[in-house]
Amino acid sequence: MVDALTGDVIGDPNELSTNEGKRAEEDNYLQEAANIDAALRSFSAVTQRAAKGGEGVERVTGQGLVFNPDPITSLATALTDNSPAVAFEPAYNEVNLLELAKFNNVVRLEGPWVAITDFEPPNTIPSTTADGVWTAKRGDNAFNDVMTYYHIDQSQRYIQSLGFTGIQARPIPADSDGMSGADNSHYVGPPIDRIAFGHGCVDDNEDADVILHEYGHAMTYHINPSWSGGDSRAIGEGFGDYWAETYSHSTPNGASFQADRVFEWDGTCPWGGRSVNVTGVQYDPDKNYGAHEGIGNGVQSDELWSTPLFQSFLELRGRDVPREEIDTIVLQSMFGLGAGFKMHDLAAAVVATAKQLHPQGVHSGIFQAQFEKLNILGPDGSVPTWPGGVDAAGAAVKR
Ligand SMILES: [Zn+2]
Repeated sequence: MVDALTGDVIGDPNELSTNEGKRAEEDNYLQEAANIDAALRSFSAVTQRAAKGGEGVERVTGQGLVFNPDPITSLATALTDNSPAVAFEPAYNEVNLLELAKFNNVVRLEGPWVAITDFEPPNTIPSTTADGVWTAKRGDNAFNDVMTYYHIDQSQRYIQSLGFTGIQARPIPADSDGMSGADNSHYVGPPIDRIAFGHGCVDDNEDADVILHEYGHAMTYHINPSWSGGDSRAIGEGFGDYWAETYSHSTPNGASFQADRVFEWDGTCPWGGRSVNVTGVQYDPDKNYGAHEGIGNGVQSDELWSTPLFQSFLELRGRDVPREEIDTIVLQSMFGLGAGFKMHDLAAAVVATAKQLHPQGVHSGIFQAQFEKLNILGPDGSVPTWPGGVDAAGAAVKR
């Protein structure tokens, strides 16, 4: 594995750390290793030039059309992948695309926080324009390019507006048409550190929830480079879902249309999406929770973490606490955990951070109560005990 800019050897493909998708079945490390060559070849000459100091690269503001966050949420209506093009017309929003790279009279979707790049099959060349204006709509991959650029860029600018200047603060390579066309997307961890979106059924990046979920994985690895072990994989999935939903909630219909669902649009496909409001399950502190694990009652491990976070968010928003304050607590609490942390470790950190940032506020009490509901915390931030039950002979039983 060599640095694309300097040619220095920086690692071995066997060290590839993580490959987490919106759903299971994508742990194909060998394919990742095979793709590295292609990634280096396609790493744009403009991005390389920009990284070397930007000689000859001008930064311009472009325009494009996006769904925000997705067509069924913004229109509050039912659509499917096969609905006629005209049904999507009212869902297009014209947005500015900030700090695009212009070089040799060509404008590219390469900015300070994301670079649209082709590194996975199918081989789809990133779209460019001469004037910075993208007019593409769904069905044309230039639309997927714009969706990916816009939603990652705005998320990074929002993170920085909260005062966090070092969370994935680099142009992450993003393949808007990857995963060999599967109905899945993934973030590949450091040192590769990039994101790709598949187009099976609904194109994944027609739904901002998928884009922000995958970006959420990138965020966790930059907040905590030791992110591994314990319940870290379920927490990473749950955090990505939370990050998608707190954004959706801020969009015009996001708070009212299926507010407890993640991936409303992409979830119209057979995989179905996920919830951020599950009940009827309890956290078992003696178990380690992986990504996308079924834990009974039709609930996945990811939802065990996203539910208390997002239900706290809704309760706090209901009391007029700004989104920014809640997201700041959630991000701040994830620093310094090291490896092998459990849900109750991070939950205790969330409550402590809330107390520290807002000693007189309702924040910490609301988080504490939501974590207690699912047995992620015991009273007063203590480690929970498994409520379990007893068998016929009176011995403690684990479910
Ligand atoms: Zn994921």
